Amino acid sequence: MKNFMVLSLFCSFFCAALLSEELMKPTSFSKDLYPAEILDGNYFLDIDHPSSFLDFNYGERVASPAQISSAIVAWSKQSNRLKVVEYAKSHEGRPLYALFISAPENINNLDAIKSNITKLSDARNINDKEAESIIQSLPSVAWMAYSIHGNETSGADAALGIIYHLIASKDSDVIDMLSEMIIVIDPMMNPDGRDRFAKSLEQYRGTAPNYDDQSLLHTGDWPYGRTNHYYFDLNRDWLYLTQPETRGRVALINEWRPQILVDGHEMGAQDTFMTGPPREPINKNIDRDLIKWGNQFANDQANEFDLRGWRFYTGEWHEDLYPGYSFYVQFRGTLGILYEQSRMSEDGVRRPEGSIQSYKEAVHHQYISTLANLKTLQKNSYQMYLDYWDGRKLNVSKNGKYGNQTFVILPTDNHGRLNALVAKLEAQDVELFRNTKILSVQSALKQSGELVEDFVIPKGSLIIPNRQPEAPLIAAILEFDADIDESVLLEERQSSLRDGSSIMYDTTAFNFTMMFGLPAVTVPENLSSNLELWAPFPTNVEVNENAVMWAVNAEDDRSVAFAARLMEKNINVRIIDEDAVLSKHSLSRGSVAVLAMDNLSHENLINDIELIARDLNISLVSIESGFGPDELPDWGGRHFRLLQKPQIAILSHSDFSSYDVGVTWWSIDQYLGIRHSQVNSSMAGYADLRRYNTIVMPSGYADLNGSKKEALMTWVAQGGTLIAHNRSSRLIASAEDFGGVKLLQNTFENSVDYKFDLLKEMAASDNYINKDKILNHGVDLDITYPWESSEKALSQENLENRDKWQSIFMPSGSMVAGRVDQKHWLSFGTPPTLPILYANYPILMTNNQSEAVVRIGELVSNDAVKDFRMVNWSSIPPGKDLNVRMSGLVWPEAAQRIANSAYLTRERIGRGQIILFAGEPNFRGSTRGTNRLWLNALIYGAGLGASSKINL
Ligand SMILES: [Zn+2]
Repeated sequence: MKNFMVLSLFCSFFCAALLSEELMKPTSFSKDLYPAEILDGNYFLDIDHPSSFLDFNYGERVASPAQISSAIVAWSKQSNRLKVVEYAKSHEGRPLYALFISAPENINNLDAIKSNITKLSDARNINDKEAESIIQSLPSVAWMAYSIHGNETSGADAALGIIYHLIASKDSDVIDMLSEMIIVIDPMMNPDGRDRFAKSLEQYRGTAPNYDDQSLLHTGDWPYGRTNHYYFDLNRDWLYLTQPETRGRVALINEWRPQILVDGHEMGAQDTFMTGPPREPINKNIDRDLIKWGNQFANDQANEFDLRGWRFYTGEWHEDLYPGYSFYVQFRGTLGILYEQSRMSEDGVRRPEGSIQSYKEAVHHQYISTLANLKTLQKNSYQMYLDYWDGRKLNVSKNGKYGNQTFVILPTDNHGRLNALVAKLEAQDVELFRNTKILSVQSALKQSGELVEDFVIPKGSLIIPNRQPEAPLIAAILEFDADIDESVLLEERQSSLRDGSSIMYDTTAFNFTMMFGLPAVTVPENLSSNLELWAPFPTNVEVNENAVMWAVNAEDDRSVAFAARLMEKNINVRIIDEDAVLSKHSLSRGSVAVLAMDNLSHENLINDIELIARDLNISLVSIESGFGPDELPDWGGRHFRLLQKPQIAILSHSDFSSYDVGVTWWSIDQYLGIRHSQVNSSMAGYADLRRYNTIVMPSGYADLNGSKKEALMTWVAQGGTLIAHNRSSRLIASAEDFGGVKLLQNTFENSVDYKFDLLKEMAASDNYINKDKILNHGVDLDITYPWESSEKALSQENLENRDKWQSIFMPSGSMVAGRVDQKHWLSFGTPPTLPILYANYPILMTNNQSEAVVRIGELVSNDAVKDFRMVNWSSIPPGKDLNVRMSGLVWPEAAQRIANSAYLTRERIGRGQIILFAGEPNFRGSTRGTNRLWLNALIYGAGLGASSKINL
């Protein structure tokens, strides 16, 4: 009893002390900044108000994904104006919802409405009269989507209010709207990114409001909430469809073909509000009727802003050349409308004029914009459907812009990659065919830009006639070059020269076949005979238990995963590094073989091999004899090279580009599924690097300083394979003593030596000799030495000045031709000419110690040229031209600057090696051509390029 008294006395004393230690109350609250009510209608009380799902008043702060989801689930039970569709789950397991909101009679009739929209979209099957009657019956369809960038939060909060307003309102204007419209709300397009950002708001929130847009509360921190789980920008993924969020969403949007698609973003905190229509460059495959409608919508929206004294603008930086934004829908006949609200995050942001724009006002802007756009659509739906129908007729007309053009992807044994491309095209409703016979056509345009006459299309090509319902989208993603107006080019050039800025907002090259590194041609006619519908390749997994080895062909990218997954199960794997024929099976160089003799102690070897081949869906052959006829490789010779199991680390964290870290990480999980570690790069100086034999340095910003550099160099010299991208390659190439690869601008002093090495390399790939001359007994006085027959070399000063000038014109995302060393192990599965996505990358120069596996520029024949010709430090041999640009904007000055430089280098250092990519080989998970080079480096590097380790 006595003890109890003491305890309670102690507590009352101590608890009072605690109270006095509470955080101080702030002098003002951000909730008082903006008194206006966003939800100002008359609402039914049986629908819960958004605030009831939040721990603050609606609109005042950022709702978390869990709060938004719980509101949606509750409302789906409370309202008959609503149908909720879960269209995807994010990588982190969060649901993505599309909410169909309309009058109950429409909600009960969604399937019939959708099927009428599908009918209206294929002008091959209905006539004008039938189209008119469908249009008369159709409600208008709006798709309103928000916050695809997770830290651009106000859109999703506005969506929460819009949903409530539409399902709970008693007002006649809303009830009328719902009887005439189907409004689809996709409130939160990137829940994983939003969750990351919402969490950081919790972590950085103090007691007093914070109006400083530089504070961590507003900026968030690495890897930022903009992107999804793997740090992908989902607003660049609408065509590439690499992420589950996008795949689910695009499938649903494409089923519904909405009339408008709103995409609500945020931009810089000190900005105002921007909406469509865009300015030039606008992709030529967008129906100009949509631009006309864009102006109409902007006008009505502007009136609403004017009424409330809210500032806004249209156009300015908003261009529309790149088709991989949400605006891919415009190529399918939907009007895309962009919102860009200045970014508040929480509380509000102080502006130079002294005012504070509150978060709640930002939400209100998105909310009012949404209602304004819905009203404009309600008013103009009929006319917009008529325009849509006109467009659909044009797409399939033989006299239209798309009537006489066919895209052809030439046959390849790289079934894995081709299947991936086919899946992306099918997701966009593209009709695909295969030719059952050889087709001879009058002419064909190659990816190099060359128009070839009397071209023969091999049997089994993938044939895509442009004349079909989705013609504009097909043209936008398969045409080798997007047309850009001369006036736009002029403006871009002036702007580059004046202040080094660009008017291009994204890459200027994006066609699928070059991104995928698949050879293709465009035929200027509509191919329609001897075609069958495209069908997937059959996979043949042939497992004979008595074979001496089992192999998969290198042509297929999945062969790398096959090797990687086998090694993870501790199975010994070999690479056949030259073309081989074994037991009548042809295997191209780089094919992967598992030998029974290498794995005598492995139980269930056959089962493991078969399971892995089936998981990858790759064909496997069984080989009964290790004998290769004639000079072809035999199984005991030097061409059967043992691989080393890669033990991979990715250097990561805020020193690196989150995009490149993310896509590196994703590429391993997506293509290989093997164990690896992301290691905080700040540990690189003291971590135990011996655990890894392969380290990737994604594109980075940091200095490669003292202890980190030393640790990495020592690790390389002892047998490590270091693979670097873009800015990290720049760091390594500019470091004094980190290998022999240098940046172009640091080599002009010795440009003669670099040219000498290049000429040697070019001569080594020459296919011509004169035997009589060689066997002549006298001294030949007519030998040509390439450097002597070249034009006079430029002085160092001249080279430096040229370089300064040319560097102004570096591309911002174009396709250039890569010249690939066909004898190098890094180029397994890669054709001699590879399209490479190129931007303002470091320009790498190899010396005689280092190898250039891929150089910029395709050498093509030109018999008219008799002499060597100079390009800056390098030259082009007689009888040749050098093609650099393949697609997009590459100024001639830039083409000269990068000509003959290295894109991919490899250098032996001690027992290890350094592999540098000038660019980002896995860009957006879509540059499958360069991705293959990277997979080779990652999985084969430890075995083929470093000294093998013997475990005693
Ligand atoms: Zn954005």
